[in-house]
Amino acid sequence: MNEPTRADRLAGCLLGTAVGDALGLPRENLSPRRAAKLFPGPVRHGLVPAVRSVGGSRWRGMVSDDTEHTLLSALALIEEPADPARSARALARRLKWWLAGGPAGAGKATLKACGKLCCGVPPSCSGVNSAGNGPTMRAAILGAFFADDPDRRRAFAEVSARITHTDPRAVAGAQTIAHAAALAVCPSPRQSPAATLAALIEETTEPALQIVLETVAAALARGEDGRALAEASGWPRGGPSGFVLHTVPAALWAWLAGEPAETADDVRGGIERALSLGGDADSTAAIVGGLAGCAGGTAAIPADWREGLWEWPRGAEWMRRCAAELASAADASAERRAAALGELRVPPGAVPARNAAFLVVVLAHALRRLGPPW
Ligand SMILES: [Mg+2]
Repeated sequence: MNEPTRADRLAGCLLGTAVGDALGLPRENLSPRRAAKLFPGPVRHGLVPAVRSVGGSRWRGMVSDDTEHTLLSALALIEEPADPARSARALARRLKWWLAGGPAGAGKATLKACGKLCCGVPPSCSGVNSAGNGPTMRAAILGAFFADDPDRRRAFAEVSARITHTDPRAVAGAQTIAHAAALAVCPSPRQSPAATLAALIEETTEPALQIVLETVAAALARGEDGRALAEASGWPRGGPSGFVLHTVPAALWAWLAGEPAETADDVRGGIERALSLGGDADSTAAIVGGLAGCAGGTAAIPADWREGLWEWPRGAEWMRRCAAELASAADASAERRAAALGELRVPPGAVPARNAAFLVVVLAHALRRLGPPW
């Protein structure tokens, strides 16, 4: 099989993030036990009720902040692909508009930081002292873009993280996921899961992160399942929470725990393993989908999941166009990049309208959770 092109890997990252997010969202913050009862099969129950088609029932799903912030990061990279501080300002401006569009949900720290941005606080001071996983969920695309440029990868991941989160663990978590994406992009020779984890442990300077990554390495070496990892990690309610020291090991375990032959680009297996962990399932599954999508490109995304993505105005086709523009952004002139951003602009009012529809769907799911099976 041909190696995916750079544009296709970037598209795989965006689409993989989206399908993981959409599949994980209905299960967000459910215990693994309750999630398994409510959603017995990952593809049968998306966020939007499945509709019958000639071929049987089809999964439909919508995305949340994980994908939205990944897409905004991609746009900020197209605008400013070389200078971290300028790129941070480009992302911060988009985060302000994201908040103004009325998102149905987001982490507390991210909401607070975006509120500060809206009040005129510069992105260098807007971050709050939180170790939530907000920066981690948008980091894979940075690593995929700067796969061959470790200095820029670290710098961009840091400034991106610090717009919303200043805790060093949140920054280190984002840098680790960006590094993982860079390793996923490098085609050959494909590293073993143990070697990938060893490289990630060696790269990070954050001791708390090293400890949880060692736990994943041990779980992989022993071939343990998600339940054993949850016990060894001491996750509350059995699943990873939105704490970055839960999210990063959960996502990396899910990404790397498959059979060796299908590890790095196994989007379906990786996302299903992330879903099986429960907890903050949309974020862990989004990160895994992004990493596996980097490795395998769009061909690695199961066709039924890609087609089931129920998104507008930034749907699968928009993500492909965004990835194509991003792939050439580093070498494109400022005029060309501005024209690309113009072509990617969505109609005024489209995002708030989409968010209103999304809110209705989320509320319906919240009500559904009150009912059986418990
Ligand atoms: Mg989310």
